[in-house]
Amino acid sequence: MAIKENLQEIKNTFINPDCLLVAVSKTKPKEDLQEAYEAGIRDFGENKVQELVDKQPQLPSDIRWHMIGHLQRNKVKYIAPFVHLIHGVDSFKLLKEINKQAKKAERTIPCLLQVHIAEEDSKFGFDETELLQLIESGELKTLEHVEIKGLMGMATFTENEEQIRREFSGLKSLFDKLKTLPLPANMKMEELSMGMSGDYLIAQEEGSTMVRIGSAIFGARG
Ligand SMILES: *Cc1c(COP(=O)(O)O)cnc(C)c1O
Repeated sequence: MAIKENLQEIKNTFINPDCLLVAVSKTKPKEDLQEAYEAGIRDFGENKVQELVDKQPQLPSDIRWHMIGHLQRNKVKYIAPFVHLIHGVDSFKLLKEINKQAKKAERTIPCLLQVHIAEEDSKFGFDETELLQLIESGELKTLEHVEIKGLMGMATFTENEEQIRREFSGLKSLFDKLKTLPLPANMKMEELSMGMSGDYLIAQEEGSTMVRIGSAIFGARG
């Protein structure tokens, strides 16, 4: 497996060189992460709390660990001391728990709100109405240990590029719309996490600031 070469190839295709590459290392052994680290990667994404907690102490301490998957409330406490960014915050209840655990860990945890953009209905996330209601409710500003940095979305798993583009472009429009609203002090619209191995170029064309790429770097997961 040629992780370094894969990374180089992917970087060469980037439409936006400033877009952050988060290397999604779920299910992969620490040797693979070390190889990506040596090729210059510092941002790694995992989707399981247990795996994140296992890998973190075994790898260099300057790695920024991204929690990219669905996060259960009762597991927030395990990653609160060190997680760099939680991408998939899909409820106010979860945000409250992150706030509580961040306070215990004496820090602020950066988060992205996951927006449901896929036309298929199996994915987690807020819809636009829920997001606007949450902002208008004034409840976000009570969460002093949480910093919302932007939005995250996953497109439908399909070959239909027009559909993927439509979903990403819808998320970008929402992102831009939120930017124009009076947001609480702990909410900014700076980061837009969208794009994976199969659709990161479309995502970059539609305004992504971070892509989460796994199999194109590390190979297919078993
Ligand atoms: C697994 C995963 C990715 C990466 O998927 P690839 O297709 O392997 O690039 C990105 N985002 C999330 C939320 C994931 O769970």
